Amino acid sequence: FLVEDIRNFSIIAHVDHGKSTLADRLLELTGTIDKTKNNKQVLDKLQVERERGITVKAQTASLFYSFQGKQYLLNLIDTPGHVDFSYEVSRSLSACQGVLLVIDANEGIQAQTVANFFLAFEAQLTVIPVINKIDLKNADPDMVEKQIEKVFDIPSDECIKISAKLGTNVESVLQAVIERIPPPKVHRKNPLRALVFDSTFDQYRGVIANVALFDGVVSKGDKIVSAHNQKTYEVNEVGVLNPNEKSTHKLYAGQVGYLIAGMKDVTEAQIGDTLYLHNHPVEPLPGFKSAKPMVFAGMYPVDQSEYNNLKSAIEKLTLNDSSVTVHRDSSLALGAGWRLGFLGLLHMEVFNQRLEQEYNAAVILTTPTVPYKAVLSSAKLIKARRAVQQNMMFIDQSRVMLKYLFPLNEIVVDFYDSLKSLSSGYASFDYEDAGYQTAELVKMDILLNGNIVEELVTIVHKDKAHTVGKTICERLKDTLPRQLFEIAIQAAIGSKIVARETVKPYRKNVLAKCYGGDITRKMKLLKRQAEGKKRMRKIGNIEVPKDAFIKVLKTQ
Ligand code: GDP
Ligand code: MG
Repeated sequence: FLVEDIRNFSIIAHVDHGKSTLADRLLELTGTIDKTKNNKQVLDKLQVERERGITVKAQTASLFYSFQGKQYLLNLIDTPGHVDFSYEVSRSLSACQGVLLVIDANEGIQAQTVANFFLAFEAQLTVIPVINKIDLKNADPDMVEKQIEKVFDIPSDECIKISAKLGTNVESVLQAVIERIPPPKVHRKNPLRALVFDSTFDQYRGVIANVALFDGVVSKGDKIVSAHNQKTYEVNEVGVLNPNEKSTHKLYAGQVGYLIAGMKDVTEAQIGDTLYLHNHPVEPLPGFKSAKPMVFAGMYPVDQSEYNNLKSAIEKLTLNDSSVTVHRDSSLALGAGWRLGFLGLLHMEVFNQRLEQEYNAAVILTTPTVPYKAVLSSAKLIKARRAVQQNMMFIDQSRVMLKYLFPLNEIVVDFYDSLKSLSSGYASFDYEDAGYQTAELVKMDILLNGNIVEELVTIVHKDKAHTVGKTICERLKDTLPRQLFEIAIQAAIGSKIVARETVKPYRKNVLAKCYGGDITRKMKLLKRQAEGKKRMRKIGNIEVPKDAFIKVLKTQ
Protein backbone atom coordinates (compact mmCIF):
# COMPACT_ATOMS: atom_id res chain seq x y z
CA PHE A 1 0.00 0.00 0.00
CA LEU A 2 1.13 3.50 -0.83
CA VAL A 3 1.20 5.81 2.15
CA GLU A 4 -1.51 8.01 0.59
CA ASP A 5 -3.87 5.02 0.57
CA ILE A 6 -3.58 4.45 4.32
CA ARG A 7 -5.81 5.96 7.02
CA ASN A 8 -5.28 5.46 10.76
CA PHE A 9 -8.27 6.32 12.93
CA SER A 10 -9.93 5.70 16.28
CA ILE A 11 -13.50 5.67 17.47
CA ILE A 12 -14.13 7.68 20.62
CA ALA A 13 -17.39 8.12 22.51
CA HIS A 14 -19.15 8.31 25.83
CA VAL A 15 -19.90 4.86 27.27
CA ASP A 16 -22.79 3.08 25.49
CA HIS A 17 -23.04 5.55 22.64
CA GLY A 18 -22.21 2.77 20.19
CA LYS A 19 -18.46 2.63 19.49
CA SER A 20 -18.18 -1.13 19.59
CA THR A 21 -21.35 -1.62 17.54
CA LEU A 22 -20.06 0.80 14.89
CA ALA A 23 -16.74 -1.07 14.90
CA ASP A 24 -18.63 -4.34 14.24
CA ARG A 25 -20.42 -2.78 11.23
CA LEU A 26 -17.15 -1.41 9.85
CA LEU A 27 -15.52 -4.84 10.18
CA GLU A 28 -18.48 -6.41 8.35
CA LEU A 29 -18.68 -3.79 5.59
CA THR A 30 -15.01 -4.26 4.78
CA GLY A 31 -15.33 -8.05 4.81
CA THR A 32 -12.95 -8.34 7.76
CA ILE A 33 -15.50 -10.52 9.54
CA ASP A 34 -18.50 -12.37 8.14
CA LYS A 35 -21.89 -10.78 8.37
CA THR A 36 -23.79 -12.86 10.92
CA LYS A 37 -26.32 -12.00 13.55
CA ASN A 38 -23.74 -12.78 16.23
CA ASN A 39 -21.25 -10.00 15.67
CA LYS A 40 -21.54 -8.15 18.93
CA GLN A 41 -18.59 -6.08 20.11
CA VAL A 42 -16.14 -8.27 18.18
CA LEU A 43 -13.15 -6.22 19.26
CA ASP A 44 -14.05 -6.67 22.93
CA LYS A 45 -12.18 -9.92 23.46
CA LEU A 46 -11.94 -10.14 27.25
CA GLN A 47 -14.64 -11.95 29.20
CA VAL A 48 -14.95 -9.00 31.55
CA GLU A 49 -15.56 -6.71 28.57
CA ARG A 50 -18.34 -8.90 27.25
CA GLU A 51 -19.98 -9.26 30.65
CA ARG A 52 -19.87 -5.61 31.56
CA GLY A 53 -20.46 -4.35 28.04
CA ILE A 54 -17.49 -2.03 28.27
CA THR A 55 -14.21 -1.84 26.42
CA VAL A 56 -11.19 -2.15 28.69
CA LYS A 57 -8.33 -2.64 26.29
CA ALA A 58 -7.86 -0.80 23.05
CA GLN A 59 -7.97 -3.21 20.11
CA THR A 60 -6.71 -2.73 16.61
CA ALA A 61 -7.97 -4.01 13.28
CA SER A 62 -6.76 -3.45 9.73
CA LEU A 63 -9.60 -3.06 7.22
CA PHE A 64 -9.38 -3.16 3.44
CA TYR A 65 -11.88 -1.05 1.54
CA SER A 66 -12.43 -0.16 -2.10
CA PHE A 67 -13.63 3.33 -2.87
CA GLN A 68 -13.92 4.87 -6.36
CA GLY A 69 -11.88 2.07 -7.86
CA LYS A 70 -9.07 2.37 -5.36
CA GLN A 71 -8.13 -0.02 -2.55
CA TYR A 72 -7.51 1.59 0.85
CA LEU A 73 -6.00 0.26 4.07
CA LEU A 74 -7.91 1.60 7.09
CA ASN A 75 -6.43 0.90 10.50
CA LEU A 76 -9.13 1.09 13.16
CA ILE A 77 -8.26 1.36 16.83
CA ASP A 78 -11.18 0.80 19.18
CA THR A 79 -10.76 2.71 22.45
CA PRO A 80 -12.32 2.33 25.89
CA GLY A 81 -14.78 5.10 26.74
CA HIS A 82 -14.66 5.19 30.51
CA VAL A 83 -12.61 7.82 32.37
CA ASP A 84 -10.70 5.14 34.23
CA PHE A 85 -9.16 3.96 30.99
CA SER A 86 -8.42 7.26 29.32
CA TYR A 87 -4.69 6.47 29.27
CA GLU A 88 -5.61 3.77 26.74
CA VAL A 89 -7.39 6.41 24.68
CA SER A 90 -4.44 8.79 24.51
CA ARG A 91 -2.12 5.95 23.56
CA SER A 92 -4.29 4.84 20.69
CA LEU A 93 -4.70 8.39 19.46
CA SER A 94 -0.96 8.79 19.08
CA ALA A 95 -1.06 6.26 16.24
CA CYS A 96 -3.93 8.07 14.45
CA GLN A 97 -4.57 11.09 12.26
CA GLY A 98 -8.32 11.23 12.85
CA VAL A 99 -11.21 10.09 15.02
CA LEU A 100 -14.87 9.24 14.71
CA LEU A 101 -16.59 10.99 17.60
CA VAL A 102 -19.74 8.90 18.18
CA ILE A 103 -22.64 10.64 19.93
CA ASP A 104 -25.96 9.07 20.86
CA ALA A 105 -28.82 10.88 19.04
CA ASN A 106 -30.96 10.49 22.12
CA GLU A 107 -28.55 11.45 24.90
CA GLY A 108 -26.49 14.05 23.09
CA ILE A 109 -23.13 15.29 24.34
CA GLN A 110 -22.07 13.69 27.63
CA ALA A 111 -19.10 14.12 29.96
CA GLN A 112 -16.83 11.63 28.22
CA THR A 113 -17.78 12.98 24.79
CA VAL A 114 -16.25 16.27 25.91
CA ALA A 115 -13.19 14.68 27.57
CA ASN A 116 -12.47 12.46 24.55
CA PHE A 117 -13.01 15.29 22.07
CA PHE A 118 -10.35 17.36 23.80
CA LEU A 119 -7.88 14.46 23.81
CA ALA A 120 -8.29 14.28 20.03
CA PHE A 121 -8.31 18.05 19.59
CA GLU A 122 -5.09 18.47 21.55
CA ALA A 123 -3.47 15.78 19.45
CA GLN A 124 -4.52 17.88 16.40
CA LEU A 125 -6.53 15.07 14.86
CA THR A 126 -9.35 15.40 12.34
CA VAL A 127 -12.65 14.93 14.17
CA ILE A 128 -15.59 13.41 12.29
CA PRO A 129 -18.80 13.70 14.36
CA VAL A 130 -21.05 10.66 13.98
CA ILE A 131 -24.56 10.89 15.40
CA ASN A 132 -25.64 7.33 16.18
CA LYS A 133 -28.91 5.55 17.05
CA ILE A 134 -31.06 7.63 14.71
CA ASP A 135 -33.42 4.63 14.63
CA LEU A 136 -34.50 5.27 18.24
CA LYS A 137 -38.00 6.63 18.72
CA ASN A 138 -36.84 9.64 20.75
CA ALA A 139 -33.77 10.35 18.65
CA ASP A 140 -33.22 14.03 17.96
CA PRO A 141 -30.20 14.21 15.62
CA ASP A 142 -30.86 17.86 14.73
CA MET A 143 -30.67 18.90 18.36
CA VAL A 144 -27.38 16.96 18.76
CA GLU A 145 -26.05 18.65 15.61
CA LYS A 146 -26.65 22.04 17.25
CA GLN A 147 -24.93 20.92 20.45
CA ILE A 148 -21.89 19.82 18.46
CA GLU A 149 -21.71 23.17 16.73
CA LYS A 150 -22.03 25.05 20.02
CA VAL A 151 -19.65 22.99 22.19
CA PHE A 152 -17.02 21.87 19.67
CA ASP A 153 -17.37 24.53 16.99
CA ILE A 154 -17.81 21.93 14.26
CA PRO A 155 -20.19 23.00 11.43
CA SER A 156 -23.38 20.93 11.56
CA ASP A 157 -23.08 19.83 7.91
CA GLU A 158 -20.01 17.79 8.92
CA CYS A 159 -22.12 15.48 11.10
CA ILE A 160 -22.91 12.01 9.75
CA LYS A 161 -26.18 10.51 10.99
CA ILE A 162 -26.26 6.74 11.31
CA SER A 163 -27.73 3.72 13.02
CA ALA A 164 -24.84 1.42 13.87
CA LYS A 165 -27.29 -1.22 15.01
CA LEU A 166 -29.19 -1.37 11.70
CA GLY A 167 -26.20 -0.43 9.53
CA THR A 168 -27.97 2.70 8.18
CA ASN A 169 -25.56 5.10 6.44
CA VAL A 170 -22.46 3.37 7.84
CA GLU A 171 -20.91 3.37 4.35
CA SER A 172 -20.68 7.16 4.42
CA VAL A 173 -18.63 6.90 7.60
CA LEU A 174 -15.97 4.90 5.72
CA GLN A 175 -16.04 7.42 2.88
CA ALA A 176 -15.57 10.30 5.31
CA VAL A 177 -12.60 8.49 6.82
CA ILE A 178 -11.00 8.33 3.37
CA GLU A 179 -11.95 11.85 2.29
CA ARG A 180 -11.43 13.84 5.49
CA ILE A 181 -8.65 12.14 7.43
CA PRO A 182 -5.17 12.76 6.00
CA PRO A 183 -2.80 9.86 5.35
CA PRO A 184 -0.02 9.48 7.94
CA LYS A 185 2.98 11.77 7.48
CA VAL A 186 5.78 9.24 7.20
CA HIS A 187 8.93 8.51 5.26
CA ARG A 188 9.53 4.99 4.06
CA LYS A 189 13.01 5.75 2.75
CA ASN A 190 14.23 6.88 6.19
CA PRO A 191 15.54 4.31 8.69
CA LEU A 192 12.95 2.55 10.85
CA ARG A 193 11.18 4.51 13.58
CA ALA A 194 8.36 2.58 15.27
CA LEU A 195 6.24 3.65 18.22
CA VAL A 196 5.18 0.98 20.73
CA PHE A 197 1.64 2.07 21.64
CA ASP A 198 0.49 -1.06 23.44
CA SER A 199 1.81 -4.44 24.48
CA THR A 200 0.34 -7.70 25.64
CA PHE A 201 1.84 -10.86 27.02
CA ASP A 202 1.19 -14.25 25.49
CA GLN A 203 2.17 -17.31 27.49
CA TYR A 204 3.63 -19.08 24.46
CA ARG A 205 4.95 -16.29 22.28
CA GLY A 206 6.12 -13.80 24.88
CA VAL A 207 5.60 -10.08 24.49
CA ILE A 208 3.53 -8.91 21.54
CA ALA A 209 4.13 -5.21 20.92
CA ASN A 210 1.58 -3.16 18.99
CA VAL A 211 3.48 -0.71 16.86
CA ALA A 212 2.80 2.23 14.59
CA LEU A 213 5.54 2.79 11.99
CA PHE A 214 6.45 6.45 11.50
CA ASP A 215 9.46 5.85 9.26
CA GLY A 216 11.08 3.01 7.36
CA VAL A 217 10.32 -0.69 7.13
CA VAL A 218 10.68 -3.62 9.52
CA SER A 219 11.03 -7.23 8.38
CA LYS A 220 11.28 -10.61 10.01
CA GLY A 221 14.92 -11.25 10.92
CA ASP A 222 15.80 -7.55 11.42
CA LYS A 223 17.86 -6.60 14.46
CA ILE A 224 16.11 -3.82 16.35
CA VAL A 225 16.98 -1.70 19.37
CA SER A 226 14.73 -0.27 22.07
CA ALA A 227 15.47 3.42 22.62
CA HIS A 228 14.34 2.98 26.20
CA ASN A 229 16.60 0.15 27.39
CA GLN A 230 19.15 0.08 24.54
CA LYS A 231 18.81 -3.70 24.24
CA THR A 232 18.99 -5.37 20.84
CA TYR A 233 16.36 -7.90 19.74
CA GLU A 234 15.80 -10.01 16.66
CA VAL A 235 12.37 -9.71 15.05
CA ASN A 236 10.74 -13.17 14.96
CA GLU A 237 7.40 -12.13 13.55
CA VAL A 238 5.65 -9.04 12.20
CA GLY A 239 2.09 -8.68 11.02
CA VAL A 240 -1.23 -6.90 10.98
CA LEU A 241 -4.24 -7.28 13.26
CA ASN A 242 -7.14 -8.46 11.20
CA PRO A 243 -8.54 -8.34 13.97
CA ASN A 244 -6.54 -11.41 15.04
CA GLU A 245 -2.79 -11.46 14.41
CA LYS A 246 -1.92 -12.26 10.82
CA SER A 247 1.77 -12.42 10.04
CA THR A 248 3.17 -10.60 7.01
CA HIS A 249 6.78 -10.41 5.88
CA LYS A 250 7.14 -6.71 6.45
CA LEU A 251 5.49 -3.68 7.99
CA TYR A 252 5.89 -0.31 6.26
CA ALA A 253 5.79 3.25 7.56
CA GLY A 254 2.16 4.34 7.91
CA GLN A 255 1.05 0.89 8.96
CA VAL A 256 -0.12 -0.23 12.35
CA GLY A 257 0.55 -3.81 13.37
CA TYR A 258 2.33 -6.09 15.80
CA LEU A 259 5.85 -7.30 16.31
CA ILE A 260 7.34 -10.18 18.33
CA ALA A 261 11.02 -9.97 19.13
CA GLY A 262 11.90 -12.26 22.01
CA MET A 263 11.12 -9.73 24.71
CA LYS A 264 10.66 -11.58 28.00
CA ASP A 265 8.31 -9.26 29.79
CA VAL A 266 6.24 -6.22 29.05
CA THR A 267 8.64 -3.86 30.83
CA GLU A 268 10.96 -4.49 27.88
CA ALA A 269 8.25 -3.31 25.52
CA GLN A 270 7.68 -0.03 27.33
CA ILE A 271 4.60 1.74 26.05
CA GLY A 272 5.70 4.91 24.32
CA ASP A 273 9.11 3.43 23.46
CA THR A 274 10.70 3.89 20.04
CA LEU A 275 12.20 0.93 18.18
CA TYR A 276 14.87 1.41 15.53
CA LEU A 277 17.23 -0.71 13.44
CA HIS A 278 20.52 -1.84 14.93
CA ASN A 279 23.25 0.57 13.75
CA HIS A 280 20.67 3.13 12.58
CA PRO A 281 19.83 5.15 15.70
CA VAL A 282 17.06 7.74 15.30
CA GLU A 283 15.55 10.56 17.36
CA PRO A 284 13.02 8.83 19.67
CA LEU A 285 9.31 9.73 19.30
CA PRO A 286 7.76 11.82 22.10
CA GLY A 287 6.18 8.87 23.98
CA PHE A 288 3.53 9.25 26.69
CA LYS A 289 2.94 10.58 30.14
CA SER A 290 2.80 7.47 32.27
CA ALA A 291 -0.56 6.63 33.78
CA LYS A 292 -0.91 7.84 37.36
CA PRO A 293 -2.74 5.69 39.87
CA MET A 294 -5.48 7.52 41.77
CA VAL A 295 -7.07 4.80 43.86
CA PHE A 296 -5.24 2.40 46.15
CA ALA A 297 -6.44 -0.80 47.78
CA GLY A 298 -4.93 -3.72 49.62
CA MET A 299 -5.16 -7.15 48.04
CA TYR A 300 -4.72 -10.37 50.01
CA PRO A 301 -5.22 -14.06 49.28
CA VAL A 302 -8.30 -15.44 51.05
CA ASP A 303 -6.05 -18.27 52.16
CA GLN A 304 -2.37 -17.49 52.86
CA SER A 305 -1.29 -20.80 51.32
CA GLU A 306 -2.46 -19.30 48.01
CA TYR A 307 0.01 -16.42 48.31
CA ASN A 308 2.41 -17.65 45.62
CA ASN A 309 -0.32 -18.47 43.13
CA LEU A 310 -1.88 -15.06 43.60
CA LYS A 311 1.53 -13.42 43.25
CA SER A 312 2.10 -15.04 39.91
CA ALA A 313 -1.44 -14.18 38.74
CA ILE A 314 -0.95 -10.52 39.64
CA GLU A 315 2.39 -10.49 37.85
CA LYS A 316 0.89 -11.94 34.67
CA LEU A 317 -2.07 -9.60 34.70
CA THR A 318 0.04 -6.51 35.26
CA LEU A 319 2.08 -7.55 32.25
CA ASN A 320 -1.08 -6.82 30.27
CA ASP A 321 -1.97 -3.73 32.22
CA SER A 322 1.09 -1.72 33.07
CA SER A 323 -0.98 1.08 34.59
CA VAL A 324 -1.48 -0.91 37.80
CA THR A 325 1.19 -0.31 40.43
CA VAL A 326 2.12 -3.10 42.83
CA HIS A 327 3.86 -2.86 46.21
CA ARG A 328 4.23 -5.62 48.76
CA ASP A 329 2.31 -4.98 51.93
CA SER A 330 1.20 -6.92 54.96
CA SER A 331 -1.56 -6.59 57.47
CA LEU A 332 -1.77 -8.07 60.94
CA ALA A 333 -5.27 -9.21 60.15
CA LEU A 334 -5.02 -10.36 56.55
CA GLY A 335 -1.42 -11.57 56.33
CA ALA A 336 0.97 -10.98 53.44
CA GLY A 337 -0.41 -9.18 50.42
CA TRP A 338 -0.01 -6.14 48.19
CA ARG A 339 -0.97 -2.54 47.91
CA LEU A 340 -2.19 -1.91 44.39
CA GLY A 341 -2.70 1.42 42.65
CA PHE A 342 -5.44 1.82 40.02
CA LEU A 343 -6.58 4.60 37.72
CA GLY A 344 -10.06 4.55 39.18
CA LEU A 345 -12.70 2.44 40.82
CA LEU A 346 -13.91 0.69 37.67
CA HIS A 347 -10.32 -0.08 36.78
CA MET A 348 -9.93 -1.70 40.21
CA GLU A 349 -13.09 -3.76 39.84
CA VAL A 350 -12.14 -4.89 36.36
CA PHE A 351 -8.67 -5.93 37.52
CA ASN A 352 -10.18 -7.91 40.39
CA GLN A 353 -12.69 -9.57 38.09
CA ARG A 354 -9.97 -10.49 35.59
CA LEU A 355 -7.92 -12.07 38.38
CA GLU A 356 -10.89 -14.18 39.35
CA GLN A 357 -11.97 -15.10 35.82
CA GLU A 358 -8.70 -15.47 33.98
CA TYR A 359 -6.54 -16.77 36.84
CA ASN A 360 -9.07 -18.36 39.17
CA ALA A 361 -7.80 -16.39 42.15
CA ALA A 362 -9.77 -15.82 45.37
CA VAL A 363 -8.86 -12.46 46.84
CA ILE A 364 -9.81 -10.00 49.55
CA LEU A 365 -9.84 -6.43 48.34
CA THR A 366 -9.83 -3.73 51.00
CA THR A 367 -11.80 -0.49 50.83
CA PRO A 368 -10.06 1.79 48.33
CA THR A 369 -8.30 4.94 49.47
CA VAL A 370 -6.74 7.88 47.65
CA PRO A 371 -3.24 9.26 48.08
CA TYR A 372 -2.71 11.97 50.69
CA LYS A 373 0.33 14.07 51.27
CA ALA A 374 0.79 14.74 54.98
CA VAL A 375 2.39 18.02 55.96
CA LEU A 376 3.17 18.44 59.64
CA SER A 377 2.43 22.10 60.09
CA SER A 378 -0.39 24.47 60.93
CA ALA A 379 -1.36 24.63 57.20
CA LYS A 380 -3.93 22.03 57.94
CA LEU A 381 -5.76 24.42 59.89
CA ILE A 382 -6.70 26.24 56.70
CA LYS A 383 -10.38 25.71 55.98
CA ALA A 384 -10.72 24.05 52.63
CA ARG A 385 -14.12 23.73 51.07
CA ARG A 386 -14.88 20.29 49.82
CA ALA A 387 -16.02 21.30 46.35
CA VAL A 388 -15.47 24.53 44.50
CA GLN A 389 -17.26 25.52 41.33
CA GLN A 390 -14.93 26.42 38.49
CA ASN A 391 -16.96 26.91 35.35
CA MET A 392 -20.42 26.54 33.86
CA MET A 393 -21.63 26.34 30.25
CA PHE A 394 -25.07 25.75 28.78
CA ILE A 395 -24.93 23.12 26.05
CA ASP A 396 -28.56 23.74 25.12
CA GLN A 397 -31.80 24.68 26.91
CA SER A 398 -31.91 21.48 28.88
CA ARG A 399 -28.25 20.68 29.48
CA VAL A 400 -25.57 22.39 31.44
CA MET A 401 -21.91 21.54 31.81
CA LEU A 402 -20.53 22.21 35.30
CA LYS A 403 -16.91 22.10 36.32
CA TYR A 404 -16.03 21.59 39.98
CA LEU A 405 -12.88 21.03 41.94
CA PHE A 406 -13.43 18.01 44.20
CA PRO A 407 -11.32 16.11 46.67
CA LEU A 408 -10.66 12.76 45.02
CA ASN A 409 -11.69 10.72 48.02
CA GLU A 410 -15.17 12.26 47.79
CA ILE A 411 -15.70 10.92 44.28
CA VAL A 412 -13.85 7.64 44.49
CA VAL A 413 -16.37 5.45 46.21
CA ASP A 414 -19.96 6.24 45.38
CA PHE A 415 -20.15 9.75 43.91
CA TYR A 416 -20.96 8.51 40.44
CA ASP A 417 -23.81 6.30 41.67
CA SER A 418 -25.28 9.09 43.79
CA LEU A 419 -25.07 11.55 40.90
CA LYS A 420 -26.82 9.10 38.60
CA SER A 421 -29.66 8.45 41.02
CA LEU A 422 -30.12 12.12 41.95
CA SER A 423 -30.44 13.06 38.31
CA SER A 424 -32.51 9.97 37.41
CA GLY A 425 -29.68 8.80 35.21
CA TYR A 426 -29.38 12.00 33.18
CA ALA A 427 -26.15 13.40 34.53
CA SER A 428 -22.79 12.12 33.37
CA PHE A 429 -19.43 12.65 34.93
CA ASP A 430 -15.75 12.78 34.11
CA TYR A 431 -12.68 13.91 36.01
CA GLU A 432 -9.02 14.75 35.76
CA ASP A 433 -6.34 15.28 38.37
CA ALA A 434 -6.02 18.82 39.73
CA GLY A 435 -3.13 18.18 42.12
CA TYR A 436 -2.93 18.06 45.90
CA GLN A 437 -4.99 20.48 48.02
CA THR A 438 -4.91 21.12 51.74
CA ALA A 439 -7.74 19.62 53.78
CA GLU A 440 -8.60 18.88 57.39
CA LEU A 441 -7.87 15.22 57.66
CA VAL A 442 -7.72 13.22 60.84
CA LYS A 443 -6.46 9.82 61.87
CA MET A 444 -9.25 7.67 63.24
CA ASP A 445 -8.62 4.77 65.62
CA ILE A 446 -10.95 1.87 66.25
CA LEU A 447 -10.88 0.61 69.84
CA LEU A 448 -12.07 -2.63 71.39
CA ASN A 449 -12.48 -2.13 75.13
CA GLY A 450 -9.96 0.65 74.91
CA ASN A 451 -7.33 -1.23 72.85
CA ILE A 452 -6.45 0.13 69.42
CA VAL A 453 -7.03 -2.25 66.50
CA GLU A 454 -4.07 -1.34 64.30
CA GLU A 455 -5.54 -3.01 61.23
CA LEU A 456 -8.44 -0.59 61.20
CA VAL A 457 -6.73 2.77 61.57
CA THR A 458 -7.96 5.06 58.76
CA ILE A 459 -7.56 8.60 57.51
CA VAL A 460 -10.81 10.52 57.05
CA HIS A 461 -11.96 14.05 56.54
CA LYS A 462 -12.92 15.65 59.86
CA ASP A 463 -16.54 16.19 58.80
CA LYS A 464 -16.94 12.55 57.74
CA ALA A 465 -15.35 10.96 60.81
CA HIS A 466 -18.62 10.28 62.59
CA THR A 467 -20.31 8.60 59.59
CA VAL A 468 -17.31 6.50 58.66
CA GLY A 469 -16.63 5.55 62.28
CA LYS A 470 -20.25 4.56 62.80
CA THR A 471 -20.22 2.27 59.75
CA ILE A 472 -17.06 0.52 60.90
CA CYS A 473 -18.40 0.07 64.44
CA GLU A 474 -21.68 -1.33 63.12
CA ARG A 475 -19.91 -3.77 60.83
CA LEU A 476 -17.70 -4.93 63.69
CA LYS A 477 -20.70 -5.37 65.94
CA ASP A 478 -22.33 -7.62 63.35
CA THR A 479 -19.28 -9.85 62.99
CA LEU A 480 -17.70 -9.99 66.45
CA PRO A 481 -18.81 -13.13 68.30
CA ARG A 482 -20.25 -12.49 71.74
CA GLN A 483 -17.83 -13.20 74.53
CA LEU A 484 -18.16 -13.77 78.26
CA PHE A 485 -17.93 -10.03 78.88
CA GLU A 486 -19.26 -6.89 77.26
CA ILE A 487 -17.27 -5.39 74.36
CA ALA A 488 -17.22 -1.66 73.68
CA ILE A 489 -16.46 -0.84 70.05
CA GLN A 490 -15.40 2.76 69.64
CA ALA A 491 -14.18 5.04 66.87
CA ALA A 492 -11.93 7.74 68.22
CA ILE A 493 -10.01 10.76 67.01
CA GLY A 494 -7.27 11.25 69.55
CA SER A 495 -9.12 11.03 72.84
CA LYS A 496 -12.47 12.05 71.36
CA ILE A 497 -14.96 9.23 70.77
CA VAL A 498 -16.97 9.80 67.57
CA ALA A 499 -18.99 6.56 67.39
CA ARG A 500 -19.77 3.62 69.65
CA GLU A 501 -21.45 0.20 69.54
CA THR A 502 -21.69 -2.50 72.22
CA VAL A 503 -21.60 -6.29 71.95
CA LYS A 504 -23.52 -7.87 74.84
CA PRO A 505 -21.91 -10.74 76.78
CA TYR A 506 -22.97 -14.29 76.07
CA ARG A 507 -22.25 -17.61 77.68
CA LYS A 508 -21.20 -19.97 74.92
CA ASN A 509 -21.70 -23.69 75.36
CA VAL A 510 -21.64 -25.41 72.01
CA LEU A 511 -21.67 -28.84 73.56
CA ALA A 512 -25.12 -28.24 75.00
CA LYS A 513 -26.48 -28.84 71.49
CA CYS A 514 -25.23 -32.44 71.53
CA TYR A 515 -27.62 -33.78 74.20
CA GLY A 516 -24.75 -35.67 75.80
CA GLY A 517 -25.02 -38.70 73.45
CA ASP A 518 -22.66 -38.92 70.52
CA ILE A 519 -19.01 -38.66 71.55
CA THR A 520 -17.52 -38.41 68.01
CA ARG A 521 -19.82 -35.54 67.25
CA LYS A 522 -18.63 -33.78 70.40
CA MET A 523 -15.01 -34.30 69.36
CA LYS A 524 -15.69 -32.89 65.94
CA LEU A 525 -17.26 -29.78 67.38
CA LEU A 526 -14.39 -29.25 69.78
CA LYS A 527 -11.92 -29.67 66.95
CA ARG A 528 -13.75 -27.18 64.78
CA GLN A 529 -13.81 -24.68 67.60
CA ALA A 530 -10.05 -25.11 68.08
CA GLU A 531 -9.45 -24.52 64.37
CA GLY A 532 -11.57 -21.41 64.52
CA LYS A 533 -9.43 -20.13 67.41
CA LYS A 534 -6.31 -20.44 65.26
CA ARG A 535 -7.73 -17.88 62.89
CA MET A 536 -8.52 -15.46 65.69
CA ARG A 537 -6.43 -12.51 66.67
CA LYS A 538 -6.29 -11.40 70.26
CA ILE A 539 -6.78 -7.73 70.95
CA GLY A 540 -6.61 -7.15 74.70
CA ASN A 541 -8.55 -10.15 75.94
CA ILE A 542 -10.92 -10.11 72.98
CA GLU A 543 -10.66 -12.74 70.28
CA VAL A 544 -11.34 -11.28 66.85
CA PRO A 545 -11.96 -13.73 64.00
CA LYS A 546 -10.30 -13.05 60.67
CA ASP A 547 -13.75 -12.77 59.10
CA ALA A 548 -14.45 -9.65 61.12
CA PHE A 549 -11.51 -7.84 59.56
CA ILE A 550 -12.47 -9.01 56.11
CA LYS A 551 -16.03 -7.75 56.60
CA VAL A 552 -14.86 -4.36 57.77
CA LEU A 553 -12.00 -3.87 55.34
CA LYS A 554 -13.63 -5.25 52.23
CA THR A 555 -15.39 -3.11 49.65
CA GLN A 556 -19.17 -2.97 50.37
P1 GDP B 1 -19.93 1.47 23.46
O1 GDP B 1 -19.94 1.42 24.95
O2 GDP B 1 -19.79 2.88 22.95
O3 GDP B 1 -18.94 0.52 22.84
O4 GDP B 1 -21.40 1.04 23.00
P2 GDP B 1 -21.91 -0.33 22.39
O5 GDP B 1 -21.52 -0.47 20.96
O6 GDP B 1 -21.55 -1.43 23.30
O7 GDP B 1 -23.49 -0.04 22.40
C1 GDP B 1 -24.19 0.20 23.59
C2 GDP B 1 -25.64 -0.21 23.41
O8 GDP B 1 -26.29 0.59 22.43
C3 GDP B 1 -25.78 -1.66 22.95
O9 GDP B 1 -26.88 -2.22 23.61
C4 GDP B 1 -26.07 -1.51 21.45
O10 GDP B 1 -26.82 -2.58 20.95
C5 GDP B 1 -26.85 -0.22 21.40
N1 GDP B 1 -26.70 0.46 20.11
C6 GDP B 1 -25.55 0.74 19.47
N2 GDP B 1 -25.82 1.37 18.29
C7 GDP B 1 -27.17 1.49 18.20
C8 GDP B 1 -28.06 2.04 17.21
O11 GDP B 1 -27.67 2.55 16.18
N3 GDP B 1 -29.39 1.98 17.51
C9 GDP B 1 -29.86 1.43 18.65
N4 GDP B 1 -31.18 1.41 18.84
N5 GDP B 1 -29.05 0.88 19.58
C10 GDP B 1 -27.72 0.91 19.37
MG1 MG C 1 -17.65 -0.78 23.75
